[in-house]
Order: sequence, then structure tokens, then C-alpha cells
Amino acid sequence: SYAIGIDIGGTKTAIGLVGADGEVRAKVSLPTDQTVTPEVMVDRMAAAIQDILTAQGITEAELLGIGVGAPGPLNTKEGKIAEPPNLRSWWNFPVVASLARHFSRPIRLENDATAAALAEKWLGAAKDAEHFVFITISTGIGAGIYSHGKLITGASGNAGDVGHFVVDPSAGTCVCGQKGCWEYVASGTAVARQASALLGREVSSKEAFDLAAAGNTSIQELVAKVFENIGVGCVTLINTFDPEKLVIGGGVSQVGAPMFDAVRDYVSKYALNPSGRQTPIVPAALHQDAGLIGAAALVHISY
Ligand code: ADP
Ligand code: ZN
Repeated sequence: SYAIGIDIGGTKTAIGLVGADGEVRAKVSLPTDQTVTPEVMVDRMAAAIQDILTAQGITEAELLGIGVGAPGPLNTKEGKIAEPPNLRSWWNFPVVASLARHFSRPIRLENDATAAALAEKWLGAAKDAEHFVFITISTGIGAGIYSHGKLITGASGNAGDVGHFVVDPSAGTCVCGQKGCWEYVASGTAVARQASALLGREVSSKEAFDLAAAGNTSIQELVAKVFENIGVGCVTLINTFDPEKLVIGGGVSQVGAPMFDAVRDYVSKYALNPSGRQTPIVPAALHQDAGLIGAAALVHISY
């Protein structure tokens, strides 16, 4: 049996046909064109799905359903995109109803980090866990929370927006308007902003990590502080949910051991309960196609 997974992002939308074993049988990537209405984008997505089905010799009736992962905030109760900052032209768009103009199979919508967490449970680093938190550290920070064998989605699909936990109100104002959110002090954007201020020129987070690895001590200090701040948020998540493990993905996690070691060290000291201090902190297993596999997981497995 097959599902269609759709991963809507600020710049591109990935669409795939995913089997019950998690295998991606076919996929396409469309630019998320914000110069046209979202209805037009949905028409393009529907045409791409029809092309995939035709090429694979699969009828719509053979599809279990269509899963959609999108950046939050959403209103999953109403099947709508609510107010994602990087998808302004989609604000309040009823994406589920719009897709239902083209398809009669069930359609499920969840926040992209929530969907990615489900993919890690299905096929990745959290297969064996009944309680875990998936954290993505990239341009911002998001999370998917899995507890007591179920995803915690909240009343409107917005649970897990942990990037806006306040960790340091003295730090400066976040895109959300609050001061010192976790993502303001612990994301790739935080590294790039602080390194750029220090060097007096525009530096990407990747470049900053490379400068630190090459021995630039002031950048090393800044990166160490960011890794510590990642640890601060992880302690809060461990203290809140008592997970069996934390799974960390997203661009910044590609740094690998320096980040994971720093976070494990912080957690080993400050998580409140003794077992929490030993929480395994592991890299996400899914990278390529993680978004569309997560979207397809919304259809393939119950949550
Ligand atoms: P998005 O935020 O669109 O989901 P990514 O998950 O790729 O995209 O995250 C982008 C952030 O991660 C940027 O801040 C980028 O500089 C950083 N990043 C991406 N790849 C790496 C890498 N290999 N090492 C360090 N940082 C990276
Ligand atoms: Zn914020």
C-alpha cells in the first residue's frame, strides 16, 4: 500500500510516493512559488501527484491517503495553514480542503517537525522508544513530542513549538516578539548573527563552524556558548517529558560530535532527575527525504 507525502517548505515543496516499508518509490520537487496563489500551487501539486501515479501505474483508489507536513503555526483542526513566517502568502489557507478538490482519499496535515518525529519513530532513531523528543536545529528550532506511544499534537497541531521557550530574556528580541527565545540563542541563525557581529561582516553559520574548527578562538567561544544553550533547552525538555531519548536533526546537527558531546555534557550535569542526566542524545537517522517520509508516515502509521 502507498501514501503520498507532501512536504511544504518556504522555498520548495517535495512530493513523494512512499510504500508501507518507507521506501520512496518516486518523488518530485516543486518550487514553492509565492508569486501565485496557494490554490494555483495546489493545482501544480495535484498535477505532479497525478503524473507520479500514472508513471507508477497506481490508481488513486490504491492510495491509503495523502499526508501533508508544513511549517507552523497551523490550524490542523480546520485543515489550515495558520501564520508561518516563511510562507506568508499561505496564511489562513485551507490546504486540506483545497487538496480535496482533486483527491477523494483521506488527507492528514501536521506541522513538519511533528511529522519528522513520526518518521524517526517509524523508520529512524526512535523505533524502539515510547517516549522521545525529536528536535530540529536549523534556521530556527522546532520539535516533535512523542509520549506514551503517541504523538503530542495539541488542540490545533501546534504542540512542540519549543523554539520559542524563553531561555535568556537579556539576549535580544526574537522574530516572534519575545525576548531571548531558545532559537534566538541556539539556532544556526544565532551562530551566524553572533559571528557576523564579531567579525564585522556577513558570515553564515556553516562558515562560523568552519572558522571554529580551524582554530578561531573567539568564534570557538561563541559556538561553545550556543551549544551550551542547546543543552539548556534539552534539559527543559527532559525535565518536562522524561523521555527515553532525544533525537536531534536539522542543519546544525550536521556539525556532529562537537555539538552532541557539548549537549550530552550539559545534560549530564543539569537534568534534574538522575535517569534524565543519562538520557541518550542521538542524531536523527533520516536526512534525505525526511520531510516527505514524515508526511507519508501521517498516513501509514497511527499516531
Ligand atoms: P532549514 O532551516 O531550511 O530547515 P537546514 O536544516 O539545512 O534548513 O538548516 C539550515 C541551517 O543549518 C543554517 O543555519 C545553516 O547554516 C546550518 N547548516 C546547514 N548545514 C550545515 C552543516 N553541514 N554544518 C553546520 N551548519 C549547517
Ligand atoms: Zn521566539
